[in-house]
Amino acid sequence: MSRDIMNTADKVMANTYKRFPIVITKGKGCNLWDSDGNKYIDFVSGIAVCNLGHAHPKVAEALSKQAGILLHVSNLYYTEPQTELAATLTEKSFADRVFFCNSGAEANEAAIKLARKHSKDKGENGRYRIVSMEQSFHGRTMATLSATGQEKIRKGFEPILEGFDYIPFNDIDALRDAIDASTCAVLLEPIQGEGGVRCPDPEYLKSVRRLCNEKGVLLIFDEIQTGMGRTGKLFAYEHFGVEPDIMTLAKALANGLPIGAMLAKEDVAEAFTPGAHASTFGGTPIITAASLQVVKILTEENLIHHCAKIGGYFKERLSWLKSRHDSIEDVRGMGLLLGMMLNTEGEPVVKSCMEKGFLINCIQGNILRFVPPLIIEEEDIDALVACLDHVLV
Ligand SMILES: *Cc1c(COP(=O)(O)O)cnc(C)c1O
Repeated sequence: MSRDIMNTADKVMANTYKRFPIVITKGKGCNLWDSDGNKYIDFVSGIAVCNLGHAHPKVAEALSKQAGILLHVSNLYYTEPQTELAATLTEKSFADRVFFCNSGAEANEAAIKLARKHSKDKGENGRYRIVSMEQSFHGRTMATLSATGQEKIRKGFEPILEGFDYIPFNDIDALRDAIDASTCAVLLEPIQGEGGVRCPDPEYLKSVRRLCNEKGVLLIFDEIQTGMGRTGKLFAYEHFGVEPDIMTLAKALANGLPIGAMLAKEDVAEAFTPGAHASTFGGTPIITAASLQVVKILTEENLIHHCAKIGGYFKERLSWLKSRHDSIEDVRGMGLLLGMMLNTEGEPVVKSCMEKGFLINCIQGNILRFVPPLIIEEEDIDALVACLDHVLV
């Protein structure tokens, strides 16, 4: 049966994904099962999406309840779930207003459009350029791949959208040089996810904020991967004592349902007036009702504190592995967004772990990324660490 599914998928699906040869059929908490009945401990979480774990009963309940009431109307009308979700997100963040969409890329599209429009509305006609970081990842639409500082993501799709300048992450002098009279915003991930789990130097984000204020440009944080408790705070910016003007969220915002959000301060958000931007499904009742429940669970059930604590434990265990294996170059990250850089290819390690019942992920060829559900416990971490100890040279 699973062979059939894989063979058919390989024929009829666009060939955009290199997949592992298993068919996943169900999940519960931190576990997944394939069609042959094999069980896995999930250290991928759909790439930092299922922060509450799989098949969470309260999310399932919120979904089925809303499904029987109202799936969708248009943004021509007010609805309660999206209003409540926006109110909750603004209450728990720096932001005053929220625009809902359906993915991370769309949230960044909205941020890019808002930054340009804000600048135009202020009469700064020449200002439209956005400075972003090398090794960043902001999405796969034309504007967001143009914002992404990785050649391999842009390759083949040129000409890319004009108006993006890439500089090295953690280099404040490079940022000072890059901002000129045509720059309207700086866009960055507080911790680079796809780029290799790269953390900012201690004072870097504060310096970035100061520089943006000095030069009168907006600061946009892409917290699509780092947000929703992943790093041990609800939003990663809380670790660094800085607030952005605009922030984008997606991935874990509804624990696996498609949603994106762009949040902004009032004086920036006001550039979006009726007709300036829109999305058919953005903030639709069924998704926002589920997301509301997700945010409630995240913030009311001590999960973020657990994430910080267990993340510290996990990182300590990975550092212990580093002391035992010459193939490990570096262990880094915050909370449960952890990376382990190898001096060899990561893919064989991922495959060996999968055969032993652990799903992990490899980025940039040689960096293992660990992003389990935030509900993970020590015994699952210990099991993975024992497996890695066995698999690594
Ligand atoms: C995943 C991700 C995106 C893109 O999100 P999609 O929902 O795949 O469009 C953008 N930025 C960051 C930091 C991400 O991790």
